[in-house]
Amino acid sequence: MATSKVLAGAQVVLPTGIVDGGRVIVEGTRIAGSAPADADVLDLTGHWLVPGFVDIHNHGGGGASFTSGTVDEILKGVHTHRLHGTTTIVASTVTGGMDALAQRAGLLSELAEQGDIAGIHFEGPFISPCRKGAHSEELLRDPDPAEVRKLIDAARGRAKMVTLATELPGGVDSVRLLAEHGVIAAIGHTDATYEQTVEAIEAGATVATHLYNAMPVLGHRTPGPIAALLEDERITVELINDGTHLHPASLQLAFHHAGADRVAFITDAMDAAGFGDGRYLLGPLEVEVSEGVARLVEGGSIAGSTLTLDRAFKRAVTLDRLPVEDVVAALSATPARLLGLYDRVGSLEPGKDADLVILDADFALRGVMRRGEWVVEPQLG
Ligand SMILES: [Zn+2]
Repeated sequence: MATSKVLAGAQVVLPTGIVDGGRVIVEGTRIAGSAPADADVLDLTGHWLVPGFVDIHNHGGGGASFTSGTVDEILKGVHTHRLHGTTTIVASTVTGGMDALAQRAGLLSELAEQGDIAGIHFEGPFISPCRKGAHSEELLRDPDPAEVRKLIDAARGRAKMVTLATELPGGVDSVRLLAEHGVIAAIGHTDATYEQTVEAIEAGATVATHLYNAMPVLGHRTPGPIAALLEDERITVELINDGTHLHPASLQLAFHHAGADRVAFITDAMDAAGFGDGRYLLGPLEVEVSEGVARLVEGGSIAGSTLTLDRAFKRAVTLDRLPVEDVVAALSATPARLLGLYDRVGSLEPGKDADLVILDADFALRGVMRRGEWVVEPQLG
């Protein structure tokens, strides 16, 4: 049996542009430059072929939480997102006690070691009580560098990102510490002024955690974090494109200002993603999911999303009318670069992992391959 596959005839989205009727060759787990004569050929005429999606901010799915689930549950959550095209996922935690988070970091680091997840993102506890969103207030704390250090040590080299409110005592020093350890310092759940945000960027912060959400609005004399984060070329901004977290015009503004090389579409998904409406727990807080929108039972704050990145893709192309190449960049290349993984994932180039997504002409998902194996067998109409 041939081990090489040639995926032919699709509109292939490459970093250099869209190739109509292009070919992607899969050899084992990787993308290859040429195919042997006996390779299987799959005709994808009328379809799109794009790189697998990379989600840098995701709390769970398929009914499972990355913060509290068992190993089996976490893997089920990861698989649920793979079924929707996310072939690289960073597991995000929500605010918890320091001991519980350190323990969780140990468990998630093993899954990172095995290649099931790409690393760990700690969202909280070092965030602002004024912008806590769906994080428990009594567990929030100032970003003491020694405690930040404890968390990243507990992750045994697998911590990829820490979201923090950099205006809190110890915030800027913590940013420096993270940058020194090669961990992304992400500004978020913050009440910072424009000037405080600039200071944190100068100290080494490189990501805006879900820009617009859980931070002060852009004012005429108080531009706040949004202006500082959008204008600085060193910052990648996360956007949750689910139609609930952002007005489409706010999304356009950010996208056009920062450009696709500085936007990472994320899900910020919680357990209900790819699962269904009902009652859930986000950390210790109760969440009601109704018609796909997750809100805290108490207070009604938005509590993450039920988004999957295939839906974010379709929405961005069909409703937001963003160019396909830009959407692909924001879903694959930009987040892959940010994670330092662009040599392995994030584009359909020879030598990289064969992580790819097939979409039909209406941008519905029709197939997913991860490391050369079909996660979703091609369903070609
Ligand atoms: Zn989150």
